Amino acid sequence: MSLRDLRIAKEKQGIHNFSAGPCILPNEVMEKAAESVVNLDGIGLSILEISHRSKEFVEIIERARSLVRETMNLPDNYEVLFLQGGASYLSILTAQNFLSKAGTGAYVNSGTWARNSMNDAKVFGNIIEFSTSENTQFNTYPKLDNIPSDLDYIHITSNNTIAGNQIKDFPKTDVPLICDMSSDIFSRDIDVSQFAMIYAGAQKNLGPAGATLVIVDKNKLGQTDREIPRLMDLRNHIEKMSMLNTPPCFSIYVSLLNLEWMIKNGGVEEMKKRSIDRSSLLYKEIDENPLFDAHVKDLDSRSKMNICFTLKDESMNEDFLAACEKANISGIKGHRSVGGFRASMYNAMSIDSTMALVKVMKTFKS
Ligand SMILES: *Cc1c(COP(=O)(O)O)cnc(C)c1O
Repeated sequence: MSLRDLRIAKEKQGIHNFSAGPCILPNEVMEKAAESVVNLDGIGLSILEISHRSKEFVEIIERARSLVRETMNLPDNYEVLFLQGGASYLSILTAQNFLSKAGTGAYVNSGTWARNSMNDAKVFGNIIEFSTSENTQFNTYPKLDNIPSDLDYIHITSNNTIAGNQIKDFPKTDVPLICDMSSDIFSRDIDVSQFAMIYAGAQKNLGPAGATLVIVDKNKLGQTDREIPRLMDLRNHIEKMSMLNTPPCFSIYVSLLNLEWMIKNGGVEEMKKRSIDRSSLLYKEIDENPLFDAHVKDLDSRSKMNICFTLKDESMNEDFLAACEKANISGIKGHRSVGGFRASMYNAMSIDSTMALVKVMKTFKS
């Protein structure tokens, strides 16, 4: 089958993909990515078999970096990196690069990934939990008032993919603010100058698994008295322009295609609007339908990307999943730690998929 035929067949199958990650990507991005695996831009070589130092790949990574720079309006002191290791690895680099031996790093424990980041950092020094909503299964975003000024950094997670809460307004503080934005980057306006570092695993809203986007204020690096292993020192990655070791070439290439798709489709402004349209539609149904309950009830804490909900009568869970499957809805089962259901609606999801889910909910009876 040709790529085109494969795409047409996929569109006919009409699966609504609510996967939390790795996540949905636009079909046209996938098709171009597939072409590049066979023959990258007609150069006679595959993206999978060219050197990361080749002219072609250097152009790809430079373009990806500059599109991130443009899209997020980065001031000159910020660097863009594409590293390996995932968002989880970046929580370790956070402590390595920002925590001095006697200093304190604070964490907002707003969800499973936030908690993991906090616990992973503990081996490096003094780590405190600044605020949490864990006692209510993270069904609200923790309060962020009165951040102390004597911290080396404070780490937040903007959108909590598993519990479905999201921060609305970022805190204003002089303490270096570090944010895991894996699951809502490029879906909201960000004033980058508020942050010392932002990072995101590509596989939620940017591209396929493999690459990790890092946006870091280079002036905030090198302030600790810690000896940092060569591969963990962000200054080395900056100096070598993300090529200190082999970067995840394919994931970076597809992330570039996806950034181009996003810009062609109206950029972050439009992605934000779409996320509001999809999430309002679904929350409205959850709130109005007597069978369902939202996990996050506090309106200011509700995620526009991952929406967690339950059936009031859990004995109906299997029937609901079956009804979803029948309607071609995939990836709706909640995370094993929360249960219930989770609709992950990243940038590439069309409102039609949300409407398909709402329709199943409207017509669902025991
Ligand atoms: C998925 C996710 C992670 C984990 O990402 P990896 O790339 O698998 O390490 C971390 N933080 C958030 C917010 C996530 O959604």
